[in-house]
Amino acid sequence: MNPSLIIANWKSNKTLSEVEDWLEKFSPNYNSINKTIIICPSFTLLSEVKSYLENKKLKIELGGQNISQFENGEYTGEVNAAQIKDFANYVLVGHSERRKNFEETNQILDQKINLVKKYGLIPIFCIQGKDTYIPKGVGIVAYEPIFAIGTGNSDTPKNANEVGLAIKRKGYEKFLYGGSINSQNVASFTSMPSIDGVLVGRASLDPVEFGKIIKLA
Ligand code: PEP
Repeated sequence: MNPSLIIANWKSNKTLSEVEDWLEKFSPNYNSINKTIIICPSFTLLSEVKSYLENKKLKIELGGQNISQFENGEYTGEVNAAQIKDFANYVLVGHSERRKNFEETNQILDQKINLVKKYGLIPIFCIQGKDTYIPKGVGIVAYEPIFAIGTGNSDTPKNANEVGLAIKRKGYEKFLYGGSINSQNVASFTSMPSIDGVLVGRASLDPVEFGKIIKLA
């Protein structure tokens, strides 16, 4: 059986002092047995979280929440692949909030995946349904139906599993579910045969709740 992959997407939340508090509260609850944990903080927090994890020797990976579609140069405000690679091995691409609020098109997502691969990062590519376009080079696919994001109304484990089977049939390596996951419902998703892990938004902001999710996943 593949180890579960559990990803925290903190979105545009947390200041430096809030992150220090989260890490202090999370560490005692953390149990890494056979699970890969990836935290995706805002870019401004990556350095702090990386140092903390290294000092405490915690086997937790880091991910970016986004990546510029451009390499270095005159792109004010952008964070490029090489810069992310200094801190993280993973990066989220194609999140519905970026598609909606920042008008990310399939063409932009293709450019992003090309740079992710070029700089040796691992993409976690978010899809909103089983027919969402997936660029070449993606191995980890996260199904995040829009109705389930931040609403408290998750998809059903059965339906998520069916999407997972369809995605796996296309040859993708890992399939994750995301959308209103919490400690109450996580096991019902990770017990499904096609689901290799979960992407957690709101519930990952609470260190104790996130610790529980990891244990129950
Ligand atoms: C997300 O947006 O990636 C997500 C999974 O959010 P939530 O858990 O809050 O639904």
